[in-house]
Order: sequence, then structure tokens, then C-alpha cells
Amino acid sequence: MADLRCAVCRKRPSELSEYVIAAKEHNLELTPEDYVLLEEMTLDPQTGLFLCTQDYVKLGAPGNERGIIAVENPPYWEEV
Ligand SMILES: [Zn+2]
Repeated sequence: MADLRCAVCRKRPSELSEYVIAAKEHNLELTPEDYVLLEEMTLDPQTGLFLCTQDYVKLGAPGNERGIIAVENPPYWEEV
């Protein structure tokens, strides 16, 4: 399994307060990494890349209706 990182800011789930908080709210035994694996729709399990909410919004919140996953290079997302 690849390291989980935001494709834009390169932070790990444990460095992003939204996932730290969400994981605790979901289940006290869940780590921020587990939470991203379970719930983060932009995660590409092949690369471990996802878009944190802040960067997802900065990118114009693409793919609201369709699914998107994070990719390494700009524009940092593609449709699935
Ligand atoms: Zn980010």
C-alpha cells in the first residue's frame, strides 16, 4: 500500500485536522489513515493520493456529480 498523501499539499491524513477529527468522531479506534481509506472518495488506492477538502475546494470542487480521483500532476484530478 502506498503512503497516503494529498496530491496538492502533500500532507498525510494525520497532518490534516479534518481527518484527525473525522476519524475520532467516526470511531475512536480509527486512525486518520483508516478514515481516508474508508471514506475519502478522491483516494486512488493504487497511488495513495487523495485531495484534502481544502485543496479540493481550491480546485473548484470538481466532479460533484461524477466520481473523481486524485492524480500526481496538475490539474491533480481525473474522472473515473
Ligand atoms: Zn491538500
